[in-house]
Amino acid sequence: MALSGTNQEQARLLNRRTVLEAIRQHGPISRADIARAVGLTTQTVSTITGELHERGFLTLTPGKPKGRGFPAPSFEIAPDGGFAIGVSISPRGLEAGLMNLAGDLVTRRTVDAPRLTAAEAFGRISELVAGIAEGRDEDKILGVGMSMPGPFGVDGMSFVGSTTMEGWTETDIRDGLRECVPFPAFVDGDMSAAAHGERLYGRGTEFRDFFYLYMGVGLGGAMIFNNQVMRGAHGNASEIGHIPLVPDGAPCFCGNRGCLERYFSMEAYDRRAAEIGEEAWLAEVAPIFRAAIVTIENLYDPQTIVLGGQAPATLQARILALAEDLPGSLGARSDRTAPRIVASRAGSDAVIRGAASLAVSRVFAPSGDIPTPAGGQPAPDLFARRLEKVTP
Ligand SMILES: [Zn+2]
Repeated sequence: MALSGTNQEQARLLNRRTVLEAIRQHGPISRADIARAVGLTTQTVSTITGELHERGFLTLTPGKPKGRGFPAPSFEIAPDGGFAIGVSISPRGLEAGLMNLAGDLVTRRTVDAPRLTAAEAFGRISELVAGIAEGRDEDKILGVGMSMPGPFGVDGMSFVGSTTMEGWTETDIRDGLRECVPFPAFVDGDMSAAAHGERLYGRGTEFRDFFYLYMGVGLGGAMIFNNQVMRGAHGNASEIGHIPLVPDGAPCFCGNRGCLERYFSMEAYDRRAAEIGEEAWLAEVAPIFRAAIVTIENLYDPQTIVLGGQAPATLQARILALAEDLPGSLGARSDRTAPRIVASRAGSDAVIRGAASLAVSRVFAPSGDIPTPAGGQPAPDLFARRLEKVTP
């Protein structure tokens, strides 16, 4: 019976998250429409929406009378029903922000502090998080998500180069974050985090299977497969920037030659466009960029590729225009409804919103893809604990 009780409890939690996710995606939506969308009875949905509404996660709009029918009230996510703090650490310093349930960054702070040691960084993170949480209802803060550059645990590739954290280990970071913030803490690679944010608040509302390509200082990405980030066996999947696409090309810090990010990244753009101009850089990078798209399509068969990152909007538009004449690949289907590559919706805050999304997804993710908190112990279900406070 104990096992059965556990399963029922898990089913209850899963149903709550499923209902909340349906409202997030389809709201405003009535109880009957939620029930149809998720395959639960209207009675079960009513119980769950009642709890969620009482907890402040939902707003309820009375239905408008239609003919002689009873007006059905509809539910939407209450943007201020919960918040998550996102922290992004990079070799340049720290960025942190508070995100609401609608995915809006409510506050944002930046600390310029190049090459922080782990000990220095956690002092700063502790201050940042305390500052952001100050004066807010702590009960509404779902957790802290932190993103950091990868890859993790690869000899000769980890923690070296222009985008990586020299002298840090993944263990330092997970333990350090858990100890320095008074909220459930989550850590993920910056690309996985950014892709996670795009899934929750960007193109993920249109596509279930897409490759998220991030043009930052380096070039990274992540495949979202069936609404979940594909992380690989060691959390390093989709290190797209180190695919050697140019035979005998420029040497890379990973030890190989001709890596994609030596040609296509903000670092490459800044360096090369200063020498030859933006126009010539675009012409030079075009065949490499197209080969990258074909490689991604042939590997993953995505619905589309979503291009995000730090390129200014005008540059990003010119890069997307390079994809108007693409070679053949698995992506060249006659029944396509979406372009083979589209712009991200996340804008330049993709990584920090993605980091915050790690904590938010504990509430929204209907199944799977719920990040494990730093420390590796299964977290108490924050959502359930909160509901218990209001459910006698
Ligand atoms: Zn490389």
